[in-house]
Amino acid sequence: MQLCLHSCRYMRPETAQGIFVNFKDLYYYNGNKLPFAAAQIGQAFRNEVLFYTYILKTGLLRVREFTLAEIEHFVDPEDKSHPKFSDVADLKFLMFPREEQLTGKSSTTLRLGDAVANGTINNETLGYFIGRVYLFLTRLGIEKDRLRFRQHLPNEMAHYAADCWDAEIECSYGWIECVGIADRSAYDLKAHTEKSGVALVAAEKFAEPREVEKLLITPSKKDLGLAFKGNQKMVLEALEAMSEAEALEMKFKLESNGEAEFQVCTLNKTVTITNKMVSINKEKKKEHQRVFTPSVIEPSFGIGRIIYCLYEHCFYTRAGKTEDEQLNVFAFPTLVAPIKCTVFPLAKNEQFDTVARDISKELTSSGISHIIDVTGTSIGKRYARTDEIGVPLAVTWIRRRQ
Ligand code: AMP
Repeated sequence: MQLCLHSCRYMRPETAQGIFVNFKDLYYYNGNKLPFAAAQIGQAFRNEVLFYTYILKTGLLRVREFTLAEIEHFVDPEDKSHPKFSDVADLKFLMFPREEQLTGKSSTTLRLGDAVANGTINNETLGYFIGRVYLFLTRLGIEKDRLRFRQHLPNEMAHYAADCWDAEIECSYGWIECVGIADRSAYDLKAHTEKSGVALVAAEKFAEPREVEKLLITPSKKDLGLAFKGNQKMVLEALEAMSEAEALEMKFKLESNGEAEFQVCTLNKTVTITNKMVSINKEKKKEHQRVFTPSVIEPSFGIGRIIYCLYEHCFYTRAGKTEDEQLNVFAFPTLVAPIKCTVFPLAKNEQFDTVARDISKELTSSGISHIIDVTGTSIGKRYARTDEIGVPLAVTWIRRRQ
């Protein structure tokens, strides 16, 4: 037995975090409006423990480096409706909700609109992305009845997630998770805010100002400047980014001791805050906007697994000329076939070769990838060659009788 352990300590396990740390800029580029989404594709690394027997069971489906494509869709946590949900609401496909798994039932065909309406799927935006992932995979060539959406059981789901579904595809290794679609709530942006002291938030402007009781954190720039000089800005931002609970704790310490120790992550040290440097008070205030941390809905695509399953679902063999001859076919949809078309005249003839080259020029100018086969081999063999590399279309011709 062979044990391969590999340290992924400084390698990213997902592409998502790069998007979260850029939230402020992305929000600005979107005109400071929600919802919006950002997508990224790149290498991801996992510290998988690969036992020899395990490799035999999972082949290349569980690897330590793979291509991951992620969409981070930011929404208002108080409004997770999606304007285009009606476009996918009527889709019907295999779903495997938590309830069915726990009671030993199998997956069932459900209408997406019903699954959202009765609360099986947590919200419309999550439902919208489940629908779009279904359309994406089936348009690529994944078979509908070998694709199911399985809801995470409570013990599988990250503690912060509101709901999570995996698109699983059946292949010779069994049902394989190929896309994870999760409502990660506001966890990531809150965690980055806490650690960096930079508020990763969005704002909803009110038509009319509203009166609310608020905890006001008012740092004194003058006193912070005198105490921290060049570091003043970082201390000030960290004070403003405090959660309500942290601010109340500091208020208590300032009132009882006159000072409080405060961890500033961007400085990587603890500083002493005195009464003069900040005032923390509950006040009635007119608000013109609501500031909040957005929730994020994340479809996460394992590209290698999808391509592997696609190969299996598009592959079949057909009988050749002789009894024991089997010909391989990849029935790729035109959308994904690397070569869209073959050009081959039925007979070997110089005139036909010229026509083939003319057709090839036309296809090139239309941006259609193709190959020409003017070898003299039999037409059956040439069809078999194109089948084997998954070319969906062919142009061929014979001379009209004069
Ligand atoms: P996760 O962030 O764990 O939900 O993973 C997102 C997607 O990445 C999964 O749906 C898989 O398609 C893919 N994936 C996760 N781990 C691996 C791995 N070790 N090897 C290949 N693909 C993986």
